[in-house]
Amino acid sequence: MSFSIRHFLGLTEADFALLESHEALLAQDSESLARRFYDYLLSYPATAAVFRDFTQERLEHLVQTQAEHSRGLLTNRLDRPWIQNMMEIGRRHYQMGIEPAWVAGAYPLYLDHWERALEGVDLPLAERRSLRRILQRMLIGDLMIQLEGFGQSARETDIERIAIFDVLLQTLMDAKTAEDSNGTYLLGGVCAGLVRKSTVVAWAGYFIREGMEETLTPQCLEGARCDGMRIPKSSEDPMWRALETRAPVVWTRGDEPAPDWLQLLDKDVAEIACFPFGSEDLQAIGAIAAWQKGYFQRVGSAYFVAFSHIGDLVLRLRTQALRDPLTGLPNRQLFSDRLTHSWEQSRRRERLLGVSLFDLDGFKQINDHLGHHAGDVLLRQVVERVIPLLRLGDTLARLGGDEFGLLLPDLSRLDDVDGICNRILEELRHPFLIEGEIATISASLGITIYPLDDGDPETLLRHADTALYSAKNEGKDQCQVHTWAMDVETRHRSVLREQVAQALAESRIVLHYQPIVHLDSELCRPSPPQVVGVEALLRLDLGNGELLFPGSLGDSLDHPRLARDIGRFVLESATAQGEIWHKQGLPLRVAVNISPRHMLDPRFLADLEEALSRHPGLPPDHLEVEVTETAPLQDFKRAKEALIHCNRLGVRVGLDDFGTGNASLSYLQKLPAQTIKVDRSFVSDIINDPHDLAIIAGVITTARLLGMEVIAEGVETCRHAELLTEMACELAQGYWIAKPMPAAQIPEWVSRYQPQYLPTTVTPLGTDDDLLKCHAHRVRQFVAALDGLEDFPDRVLETGAEAQCHLGVWLATEGLRYQNHPDWPVIHRRHHELHRLAREAKPLWDNGKRKEAQDTGRRLNRENAALLAEVEAMREE
Ligand code: C2E
Ligand code: MG
Ligand code: MG
Repeated sequence: MSFSIRHFLGLTEADFALLESHEALLAQDSESLARRFYDYLLSYPATAAVFRDFTQERLEHLVQTQAEHSRGLLTNRLDRPWIQNMMEIGRRHYQMGIEPAWVAGAYPLYLDHWERALEGVDLPLAERRSLRRILQRMLIGDLMIQLEGFGQSARETDIERIAIFDVLLQTLMDAKTAEDSNGTYLLGGVCAGLVRKSTVVAWAGYFIREGMEETLTPQCLEGARCDGMRIPKSSEDPMWRALETRAPVVWTRGDEPAPDWLQLLDKDVAEIACFPFGSEDLQAIGAIAAWQKGYFQRVGSAYFVAFSHIGDLVLRLRTQALRDPLTGLPNRQLFSDRLTHSWEQSRRRERLLGVSLFDLDGFKQINDHLGHHAGDVLLRQVVERVIPLLRLGDTLARLGGDEFGLLLPDLSRLDDVDGICNRILEELRHPFLIEGEIATISASLGITIYPLDDGDPETLLRHADTALYSAKNEGKDQCQVHTWAMDVETRHRSVLREQVAQALAESRIVLHYQPIVHLDSELCRPSPPQVVGVEALLRLDLGNGELLFPGSLGDSLDHPRLARDIGRFVLESATAQGEIWHKQGLPLRVAVNISPRHMLDPRFLADLEEALSRHPGLPPDHLEVEVTETAPLQDFKRAKEALIHCNRLGVRVGLDDFGTGNASLSYLQKLPAQTIKVDRSFVSDIINDPHDLAIIAGVITTARLLGMEVIAEGVETCRHAELLTEMACELAQGYWIAKPMPAAQIPEWVSRYQPQYLPTTVTPLGTDDDLLKCHAHRVRQFVAALDGLEDFPDRVLETGAEAQCHLGVWLATEGLRYQNHPDWPVIHRRHHELHRLAREAKPLWDNGKRKEAQDTGRRLNRENAALLAEVEAMREE
């Protein structure tokens, strides 16, 4: 350029020589020229703004440089170094925002200055003119070069800016088509694009800080390798500074020490700009490194702020993907990340970490009865109640359905765990108001504590789950801390499951059958057949002649992996067996137990139909599926639909174990069942416990009114059978009738079965006086026990038994309406006398004085007969 510019300006070697010969004259006072030059610039607000933040020192330096420049103009001859220098100044002016027009505007000062210098000396006119021409042209040349530098820099910057725009635009457009639900593609695309398209960007990437972690880890780094790189927290580090101030930070080589991690990247960059983005949960830094100093100022950091905006968007998508949309709580994935992190920290700092799982008891019912929307409202209210009980740094997460996870890091004492857990349980016991309805629930909570439980995060979670299982098993509404015994129990269950799976594969699962019969008494004479059917009961054949019963199989029968296979096996064998009996002329009804899980399985009905169609010899109405309350409690709608479908196929439905769970009598009405099986825990205790008697009486009456059949299970003695017939329960199953037996023994048993006639009512009482009937039975049993014929009934001799026995309860309830009758006090006295005599007889019997005991028994019998006669007379009036 030097050559062409000289030509272009029409300057010759002679011109330069002439100029040089006057250098001393023209260079005089160059400093005051420089000062005037700046005074001029500073007198205009727009130009003054550029120097606003300059110190006096820096301005002085500029003045000196300017003076040097003016002197240089006289000697430089527009050679290459001069040109390069002026181009650089042009570039710098561009970076500082000094428009070339301003420089051009100030240059006439130079001409004035030299004019005055020339005026002071005697020169030939031609020489003076030549000098003027040369100086003018030198100034124009100087300006041209500066302008060129300025323009070049502007063009480069524009190219950079366009490239950056291009990268952003292209990434956004690509992202529309990319399958990237959490948007990480966007940020990666920006980084890769910047390195590819910009000649100045050396590398670009972004670094993440999860939660309160004290390190930043690279998520993406384009243009450099970052294997195993971690950036520890430090107030010196530009990335951490940007995070802390939430504002961009530019690190410049030479101005401040290089961060250690920069060596790892092995790139000799001049600047790194750090842009913070993200939120509390997930903070991030976008980092862009440039080869050139001043790059970020030149291009303008505003161009890179777009990076932060995209980053914010991406991280928001990512954190959304880590949160449960209903409650806003961390989801399972985030919970598990935090668990790992808390575990690592607890290990380092030797602190206690509580890991807990809890779920709501009775949540399903709320969903079933009040609808899913109400269920959602309840979940939100639960969260609102639990959050205030937690400390800063604790994590509550929703892991799915009504299952929540809890992390309690940094505990100082074990007691803290109890405190927090019990407060949560307590808080959730208070009723909830949901859409105008009051709902009551409770929660079961399992917890394990690191490092007492020295497992890895996965193990801790498993142990919390085991503890939760135990809390539920122990009756719900409680907190259980994990113990090794629980772990043993869990392992035992899984061994059992393996055993069951293997037995199933090796056909070592067999069914035994227990007869169900009509009771025979004066009140309900059975019409044949007396044996109405059998219940199929599963046994596991250990191969050594020993059988394992369902009670020792843990949760195998309802386990996700086994429930359906077992169910299919039972359906197939039981229908096959039923078909055989039918073909033999033995039309037995066969009842099979279906586990809740199989019943709620969408394939259950197909399994049932398959069994029926494979064995058409068994009429569908001779098959009964027994379901416990558990399935309807889990998913009422689904259970009901499945049962309705069973009925459509002609198959009967029986509600098993009735009374043991949470189901209410209203279930009987809502579910399409033909049979109710009253659980044996009630039946066995009707003689001793008026409450059980009341429940059975209620169930029998309700079922009868609804047109259902009632089967009493666990009928172990004749006394039970008598009482049941007197309460109008006609069907029974139990050891008193027959124990479960192999299928082959059933035909013979049926052919020999002779129903035992049960004596007519022992007293002339009406049919609905169950309490009085039971009282009469207990007295009979007590007297029979003194004769050595039966066991003593429970709780006759206890202190206060008078108020709790069946007669006592009758006197305090139904009987009260006779309290003004003249015989009322007599009846009371006799009641006390009965108990007194019993208390007298029993020790005699225990001490071997059997005869005296039996005499007392006879007095007791007479007293009772008199009492019952008085009661009867009183009731007839
Ligand atoms: P469940 O359906 O209520 O069956 C009645 C249980 O009571 C049977 O126990 C039976 O042997 C026992 N039992 C009957 N009469 C008496 C009695 O007078 N006194 C006493 N103490 N017990 C009596 P088992 O066979 O041990 O079965 C227990 C439970 O295991 C069953 O209760 C049922 O819920 C479940 N189960 C049995 N077989 C199957 C099956 O094939 N599949 C599924 N999913 N569950 C089954
Ligand atoms: Mg059953
Ligand atoms: Mg049962």
